[in-house]
Amino acid sequence: RAKHQGKGKYAIFDPHMHQQTVLRLNLENNLRKALEENQFVLYYQPIINLDKLTTEGFEVLIRWQHPQEGIVFPCDFISVMEEIGLINDLGEWIFKTACQQLSQWQNQFNLPLKININLSVQQLTESIIPLLDKILDIYPIQQNTLVLEITESMLIKDFEGTNNLLSQIKQRSIQISIDDFGTGYSCLGYLHQLSVDALKIDRSFMNFSSSKNHNQVIVSSILALAQSLGIRAIAEGIETEEQRQWLISQKCKLGQGYLFSPPIAKDKATDWLNFQRLN
Ligand code: C2E
Ligand code: MG
Ligand code: MG
Ligand code: MG
Repeated sequence: RAKHQGKGKYAIFDPHMHQQTVLRLNLENNLRKALEENQFVLYYQPIINLDKLTTEGFEVLIRWQHPQEGIVFPCDFISVMEEIGLINDLGEWIFKTACQQLSQWQNQFNLPLKININLSVQQLTESIIPLLDKILDIYPIQQNTLVLEITESMLIKDFEGTNNLLSQIKQRSIQISIDDFGTGYSCLGYLHQLSVDALKIDRSFMNFSSSKNHNQVIVSSILALAQSLGIRAIAEGIETEEQRQWLISQKCKLGQGYLFSPPIAKDKATDWLNFQRLN
């Protein structure tokens, strides 16, 4: 059986490796089934005006409602969906579901509510343009309220090509935000050439416990950078009132985190907006 590997080479049967392969194949089959049987759900985490405590919008975060195992988080399936070539099908479902929800909320609450959708690197190709046109055609959402989150590494790959795609996206009044800013290859020199509308400061910088306050220095620098570029900055992973106060003192206007709300299902998000309207 191992002969095809060449003369003098032997593949040894490894029960552990065999088990890993079986588990992986099972996961792949279950993910195919999950897409067919609609087992994915979108959660929404409020993005908050730190000072006024009003809701500017939501970040869409996907979950897999596994029939036996319960909720599975994206870190355990997004990369597998990419590897088995299903991320674009999943991505299309996410766009449709989130934009339908957004248009419903914008109507119901009469607010210019925004929604942020995370993009996988494989979605950022020419084929995203006709998809976005189709989505915008079906769901009437207000201009500049759909925001796509991309990471710095997606910009590095093919700067010219990506920048061209980003301009086409922006021509459709869709905004671009750089996710996990500060953790990647930080293409600072390119930022002013790019059509970017916001920087999201990675939550790893929200740990202010170090006595040297390295993270606070980094956050302040990112805020100054965003301000000089004239774009928004959004702090991720805000968990304490101290963090909120410090961010306000640094002129950071927007943020999200467990201090305000974890990602919540759509009904709870509707309740959240209802509650907010009463205030
Ligand atoms: P991300 O886009 O940077 O999302 C932020 C992550 O931080 C989310 O994890 C969120 O639940 C978590 N988070 C929010 N507030 C707090 C906080 O106060 N403290 C802490 N410790 N964590 C907080 P989640 O939902 O597990 O998503 C992880 C990553 O998976 C996301 O990182 C994003 O890169 C990816 N992802 C999520 N949904 C999608 C999707 O629909 N499509 C694609 N392509 N990727 C997605
Ligand atoms: Mg994100
Ligand atoms: Mg993020
Ligand atoms: Mg992050």
